[in-house]
Amino acid sequence: MKAKMYVCLALSLCLAACSTVSMTGRKQLNLVSESEILSASLTEYQSYMKTAKISTDATATAVVKNVAQRIAAAAEAYLKTAGQEADIANYAWEFNLVNDSQLNAFCMPGGKIVVYTGMLNLIGNGSDRDDMLAAVIGHEVGHAIAKHGNERASQQVLANLGGSLLGAAVSQKSEATQQAVAMAYGLGTQYGALLPFSRKQELEADYIGVVLAILAGYEANASITLWEKMSAASTSTTAEFMSTHPSSTTRISELKKSIPQVKAQLGVK
Ligand SMILES: [Zn+2]
Repeated sequence: MKAKMYVCLALSLCLAACSTVSMTGRKQLNLVSESEILSASLTEYQSYMKTAKISTDATATAVVKNVAQRIAAAAEAYLKTAGQEADIANYAWEFNLVNDSQLNAFCMPGGKIVVYTGMLNLIGNGSDRDDMLAAVIGHEVGHAIAKHGNERASQQVLANLGGSLLGAAVSQKSEATQQAVAMAYGLGTQYGALLPFSRKQELEADYIGVVLAILAGYEANASITLWEKMSAASTSTTAEFMSTHPSSTTRISELKKSIPQVKAQLGVK
């Protein structure tokens, strides 16, 4: 009975608040306004940055900033061609390298990108370093431009308040949004749990990451090398990334399929 009510509520909300991810055509629930998501994300980012240990390694920081800047420019170019030019105004890009041994990186709604030194160390200093970094950052920016943060906040609002009337939900929405954003990026440990991206969102971010990496002039096949490295290094240090970005057994095979397709579409060899 309760499940039926959820489905019913989800369906009626979807009619009111569904949008489409333009890159993949997937329908998503965006119940929370974009301005709420952006302000919740900015609050979370600013409090995180107060305690984050910014890398003092100028060379490594320049490497990250250079790749992130090119991916950000590719994201804006993509949004333009996808008819989402208005979204560009929501991005105030920032690029950071933070001293943290965990294998992780994130891009919050609004374009705040953080790469951990642990991730950079895993990538190493080989000739495919920038291509792999582009795969990581492209994937994270993919989550942002496909508005997965909003989708998860919407799902969180539904989960917390699903049984109550929508009117009541709206009054408690801001707090639920703040909590969902904190949980999504693993920055709000006070909530005790991380909210993982769904497998569908992961595959979608992978796909968008491939498009962005190619648009920015990187070799997208490095994303396959990266995921292979990640699973080979599968220890407690990868747990953090894996808990917010669940791996899929189909991930590498999907990349192997989509990379040649995207290259053909974009006329790249
Ligand atoms: Zn992810």
